[in-house]
Amino acid sequence: MVYKYKRYLGNTNTVEVHDTNNENTNCQLDEIASDHRKWYDTLSEAKNDYDYDNCSWCLGDSQR
Ligand SMILES: [Zn+2]
Repeated sequence: MVYKYKRYLGNTNTVEVHDTNNENTNCQLDEIASDHRKWYDTLSEAKNDYDYDNCSWCLGDSQR
């Protein structure tokens, strides 16, 4: 389990964003290297920062 700084966690390596309030084991948040983690309070904040896709496990509506 990853320590949550904020609700949304972006992976800048896969360019996917996760909702840690709805974490699925398939998200494999523990596998994200610390220098690929970016934290956000809101999903729109994340989307404005990077062109993230939604994680299909915790957010759904994946576009890729
Ligand atoms: Zn996820």
